[in-house]
Amino acid sequence: MAYEPQVVQAARERLEKRRRDAIAVAASLRERMCERIPRLREIEQQMAAAVPQITHAILAGEAADTVDTLQKQNLALREEMGRLLRQAGCDADDFEPRFTCPLCKDTGYVDGQVCGCYRQLLKEEACRRLSGLSAVKLTDFDSMRLDYYDAAVDPQWGVSPRQQMEDVLAYCREYTADFTPHSGSLLLQGPTGTGKTHLSLAIARGVAERGYGVVYGSAGTLLRRLEQEHFGKAEGDSENQLIGCDLLVLDDLGMEFDTPFSRASLYNILNARLLEGRPTVISTNLGSAALQSRYGDQIASRINGGFEPLLCVGKDIRQLIRRQSMG
Ligand SMILES: [Zn+2]
Repeated sequence: MAYEPQVVQAARERLEKRRRDAIAVAASLRERMCERIPRLREIEQQMAAAVPQITHAILAGEAADTVDTLQKQNLALREEMGRLLRQAGCDADDFEPRFTCPLCKDTGYVDGQVCGCYRQLLKEEACRRLSGLSAVKLTDFDSMRLDYYDAAVDPQWGVSPRQQMEDVLAYCREYTADFTPHSGSLLLQGPTGTGKTHLSLAIARGVAERGYGVVYGSAGTLLRRLEQEHFGKAEGDSENQLIGCDLLVLDDLGMEFDTPFSRASLYNILNARLLEGRPTVISTNLGSAALQSRYGDQIASRINGGFEPLLCVGKDIRQLIRRQSMG
């Protein structure tokens, strides 16, 4: 996947910071220990001086016991250093930088190939850029207020709005905790103001915090961005991100400006994700019949067939039932 230069730069900066920090931590420990135990610095200098001596002795073809003596001296120095450090409560390994990724030592490359840690950073940055994930940080499941919902059982429905939303909330929590890039897709349906956006954001945040690449956005914002890129008014590769991210959270579907382009893009994205088994979370205040009449069979059948519906209710469930039956 090709990434925008800003995405590559942001990922590189994070990678370089990891490497710098790991080296700085090790160097500062070494400096502190050498100040406490001046003998350490002497040993380091003697060890550094020994390396060319040994190399020279081998190259010059000197007697084997000379080389042997030099190597033994070096080993003794190393042992003394280890002993001094252990007495001070640390380890010779502590002088080596502890890289976040031991595989590539936070350089991003192993044997000339892009390392998995760098790939992950690129994905995170691409998703962050597309989502404006700062908004996602503000919302989680714990801040969902269930006392706002009516606790009285609705006779027709057989359940109270509060109970219904407790169930939906529990389902979303579990979905987030168990998320894998092969999880199922969710459809949060219900009237405006019933907590769908709150739940969508909490899912996006929770899944992103678990290290997956999440794109969150309102259908309007994301589809408008695609349109701008398509017609050359903006740069980027949002379509590949929307199709390729681990989780796409499409908030407020049905509120976007309806154009042939937005409809074709929507179909393309939903279809590609379903075919590749990638999960999508959609929130909408359209009922199943309304989805059908607005988007047509192709899109509606993708959503109605491939998504687990979760009904979000407000104070008055009957209002919801009316809406659902009206479509
Ligand atoms: Zn790595």
